[in-house]
Amino acid sequence: MVQPTPQMSDALHRRGLMFILSSPSGAGKTTISRMLLDGDPALRLSVSATTRPMRPGEVDGKDYHFVTQEQFDRMVEAEQFLEWAHVFSHSYGTPKAQVKAGLREGQDFLFDIDWQGTQQLYQKLETDVVRVFLLPPSIDELRRRLTGRGTDSAEVIAARMERARAEISHWDGYDYVVVNDDIDECFAKVCEILHAERMKRARQTGLIGFVRELMRP
Ligand code: 5GP
Repeated sequence: MVQPTPQMSDALHRRGLMFILSSPSGAGKTTISRMLLDGDPALRLSVSATTRPMRPGEVDGKDYHFVTQEQFDRMVEAEQFLEWAHVFSHSYGTPKAQVKAGLREGQDFLFDIDWQGTQQLYQKLETDVVRVFLLPPSIDELRRRLTGRGTDSAEVIAARMERARAEISHWDGYDYVVVNDDIDECFAKVCEILHAERMKRARQTGLIGFVRELMRP
């Protein structure tokens, strides 16, 4: 009897992963996120809901779902978030529906969320989560990056530095820590992490059948 040939496409079937990128502001997270999304069409941004006002250049539904506090509270009440948190006096949350269905279909998601959200996602979906934390190369470089165009007062800069220090203190809640000294090198390292995590045996749900076929006498 002719045995069916194992199909590589079946073998490639796998569960999606949740790629979480966190960092203090000034460590390059926004740039690295954009590079990842531009360079990897298989990766989709998990678009959060937030109550903070829209910044110039942001697009509703693309950068965030901009909602009122009332709408946000209703979503919390209706358990529509996978996680949510107060960050810098505004509310932020990850809508549940898109991510849960996507993961089953093999969709990978990028999460630009803080340490509180990371902890909650890890508690709920530990095996789907990959946690990456970016650090600035030095405190002087961080201060330089947070000083902006030199128009902010010393108090504003000091407050930003304090906030950055508080965020950095959560570095040990992550699987990978990458120091962002050079943006291209940092991006290359983050890509290596993503590629390796995609190959994890537990994620390649199509492998069992594929290997069974390979081993059939
Ligand atoms: P920003 O207002 O500058 O876009 O984001 C402020 C902080 O909120 C960043 O550290 C960002 O990672 C975090 N953040 C954005 N979306 C979410 C979310 O859905 N959940 C949580 N926990 N944090 C978020």
